[in-house]
Amino acid sequence: MGDCIFCKIAQGEIPSTKVYEDDQVLAFRDLDPQAPEHVLIIPKKHLASIMALGRDDRELAAHILTEVVPGIAHSLGVDVGGFRLVTNTGADGGQTVEHLHFHLLGGRSLTWPPG
Ligand code: AMP
Repeated sequence: MGDCIFCKIAQGEIPSTKVYEDDQVLAFRDLDPQAPEHVLIIPKKHLASIMALGRDDRELAAHILTEVVPGIAHSLGVDVGGFRLVTNTGADGGQTVEHLHFHLLGGRSLTWPPG
């Protein structure tokens, strides 16, 4: 999508601090970190939110959840201590960037419930 900031990051048009990349997925550090480790994991393909995932995206979703997230958690050293994976969805969910992304937050004890 032409004006999508995360598409531009995925295409290298806007710089990011990359922590992981493969042909389908990019992960980079959040500009405004809410925890010592705060990484955004995005599909390179533009999907507006988790609500836009379709049957054709099952392999992508499984790849992110079964390979990318555990791999990044391990590489950041938060796999044992724990971390939080969040995908804000829509206005009430607090989504501000309309390109599917998973926040991986860790490195401190996180509170619950969120605001
Ligand atoms: P959300 O509010 O769930 O849609 O999350 C969007 C996130 O993107 C926020 O945590 C922002 O800090 C982050 N963000 C926005 N622009 C950038 C950028 N250029 N590089 C890294 N993170 C960004």
